[in-house]
Amino acid sequence: MSLAQNADAPRLSPTARRVVVTGGAGFLGSHLCKHLLARGDEVVCVDNYYTGRRALIADLLDDPRFEVLRHDITFPLYLESDEVYNLACPASPIHYQRDPVQTTKTSVIGAINMLGLSRRVGARFFQASTSEVYGDPEVHPQPEDYTGNVTSIGPRACYDEGKRCAETLCFDYQRQHGLDVRVARIFNTYGPNMHPDDGRVVSNFIIQALKNQPITIYGDGSQTRSFCYVTDLVRGIVALMEAERVEGPVNLGNPQEVTIGELARIVIDMTGSKSDIVHHPLPQNDPVRRCPDIGKAQGLIDWKPATPLKEGLASTIAYFEDYLRGNGEL
Ligand code: NAD
Ligand code: UDP
Ligand code: UDP
Repeated sequence: MSLAQNADAPRLSPTARRVVVTGGAGFLGSHLCKHLLARGDEVVCVDNYYTGRRALIADLLDDPRFEVLRHDITFPLYLESDEVYNLACPASPIHYQRDPVQTTKTSVIGAINMLGLSRRVGARFFQASTSEVYGDPEVHPQPEDYTGNVTSIGPRACYDEGKRCAETLCFDYQRQHGLDVRVARIFNTYGPNMHPDDGRVVSNFIIQALKNQPITIYGDGSQTRSFCYVTDLVRGIVALMEAERVEGPVNLGNPQEVTIGELARIVIDMTGSKSDIVHHPLPQNDPVRRCPDIGKAQGLIDWKPATPLKEGLASTIAYFEDYLRGNGEL
């Protein structure tokens, strides 16, 4: 739909795009809101602060093109918008397992509401999906046509299956209602604004190293992940939304695999930490390997991550140093 067809809602500039970002007060959402404002959009951040924080968007609040709505997307929402980026959902196992029923509701009912909104106003719709739709993969690296190895009843299922259902909804809205949808399967992403208490490996290791506390490796540390720096990821998300035509889901992540043991050594080295390494049991259903095949994103939007791991870690370490100092923890 053109801007003119959707012109009834207030707009500061007649040419600016109005964009809704759900989960805009979270890690990825806060970077996305900042990016969209910087390119001239009017942004409505919709967030219930389940895992989001006001501090992450505090520096955007003075911008008259930025608005925040405290709202839970499992309830209907009526707004005018040209584009909707649906990122709302707790993303780390600690957070999404705290209230698994709410996680499924957010993924499924939240997606229905945001798809319904997009359908009503003819907005282009972006869904933040996840590499978790591949579960514990048996194919490496994972291409988009790999259907995954997921259990529907394990402790990760509320998130994995919720996100799989959200994908189903996106492509059904596309087929049934002609909605223009973009689905990114996002692989592990890290950077400033990560939640300090979400138990993710990058934040855990950096905070432990800065405090000279033991680095907790789950299992023997031979499992792999591939870590994408947040600004690279946001560039990919926006490029996907801008692309003329996209069919099916698209992987966004860093194809460079690193073992968790190696990550621990790099973080200890970069922080000059005196931390020891301790081993804890591997959580249930913890995938052994995860690595994206990003051929589709490369072909479609000429995207690949540009930030080397050590460069991204350096700014993430600086962020957590500031954060811990501000809290009197360093
Ligand atoms: P995050 O927890 O920092 O952000 C999620 C945001 O959604 C938070 O601000 C939270 O308050 C909000 N939210 C949760 N439930 C809500 C609800 N019902 N209504 C309104 N707001 C709600 O997580 P993130 O890392 O920024 O992840 C953002 C999105 O990207 C998620 O959908 C996640 O599944 C996806 N993703 C992230 C990663 C990653 O590595 N960070 C990887 C794959 C997918
Ligand atoms: N919805 C919403 N905002 C809107 C339009 C719809 O939150 O601007 C919700 C609405 O409550 C509905 C869901 O989105 O439950 C799906 O809407 P759709 O029109 O696709 O289907 P419906 O269930 O209304 O037939
Ligand atoms: N992990 C770890 N120590 C930690 C936190 C996580 O060894 O303190 C491991 C975890 O078991 C997993 C990997 O690091 O194998 C990535 O975990 P994270 O929760 O960051 O992401 P996900 O499992 O969702 O990919």
